[in-house]
Amino acid sequence: MQVCSCLYFHLCSNLRIVKKRDVVRGWGSILAGRTPFLSIEITKECPLTCPGCYAYNEGHLGGETLLRQVSDYRGKELVDGVIGLIDAHRPVHVSLVGGEPLVRFKELGEILHLIEKRGIYIQLVTSAVRPIPVEWAKTRDLDIVVSIDGLPAEHDMRRKPATYERILQNIKGHLITPHCTITRQMTQRPGYLREFLAFWSTQKETRKIWMSIFTPQIGETSYEILPWDVRRRVVEELLVLREEFPKLAVPQKALKAYLNPPSDPSRCIFARTTTTITADLRRHVTPCQFGGNPDCSQCGCVATAGLEAVAAYRLPGIGIRAGSICEASLKVGSLMRRLRSVAQRDTPRTR
Ligand code: SF4
Ligand code: SF4
Repeated sequence: MQVCSCLYFHLCSNLRIVKKRDVVRGWGSILAGRTPFLSIEITKECPLTCPGCYAYNEGHLGGETLLRQVSDYRGKELVDGVIGLIDAHRPVHVSLVGGEPLVRFKELGEILHLIEKRGIYIQLVTSAVRPIPVEWAKTRDLDIVVSIDGLPAEHDMRRKPATYERILQNIKGHLITPHCTITRQMTQRPGYLREFLAFWSTQKETRKIWMSIFTPQIGETSYEILPWDVRRRVVEELLVLREEFPKLAVPQKALKAYLNPPSDPSRCIFARTTTTITADLRRHVTPCQFGGNPDCSQCGCVATAGLEAVAAYRLPGIGIRAGSICEASLKVGSLMRRLRSVAQRDTPRTR
């Protein structure tokens, strides 16, 4: 399972630069029974055919319907639809994913502008298969996350036509976050992860680097899956590499959280605080952005790990875990949601 649409949780790995205003707004959303994070698959189209892509897997949308079968939108309908969702959900953070969002680059330019005007943090997750318009570099609070799965030999084979050569051309004029999903293949040659970090750390376009670990569906047996002893070794290696490569923006506690993922979606703060909507702008992807039946016990999503690390943090002075406060807030939010739906049901309709 690729983590193409996974990487949008800014708070967890960049806690230092999150604005206090956004933390307060996010908490307010939870208490009001909304999720502070919204992820939208703005198109079902993608020119890539990555092995292990979760978006096109059977079960991604929870039933028999496949992503390629849903209706998606273009032009004004797409712009209005996406902005309508954002206004309805009032998130603190929006992630725009696909398919490949750049196939709708004209609409996307307009969407970015309208989200920016609303003061919402935006994450665009892309393969950089086509040039990223330079004017987008001026967008405030936009993080462009480019999925780069390993060094050229492995990446180009998996993600053609979004090859290294194209990516390096297409990101010119931008600051990006390369995001690598570590597969077993990348763990077989000593020094591989170091080489990857050395390459991307020295690119002037790299703002920071994220590393996830391949997350399978329950029962999946693909070779990409890291056995537990390998996962442990990778975590130990990354703990050392983050000292050498400061652009690797995965905190120590988040790396350690890869060894203790949530047991199931009901225990996953990331899944519970994020709403993911697919390309028909209607259907929800559950239980998390992976859809289907993900194997939480092998979750390698950097956003989830980051949030688990935040949840384990004890607030100075009172010693309470941030996760306990979040849990209590989620319960209040769920109560608020129920009260709202009862109120809506019982309100007499007038003509
Ligand atoms: S780039 Fe396209 S094919 Fe590859 S993982 Fe993302 S949606 Fe799937
Ligand atoms: S822990 Fe489970 S629900 Fe949460 S992101 Fe990972 S796979 Fe999804």
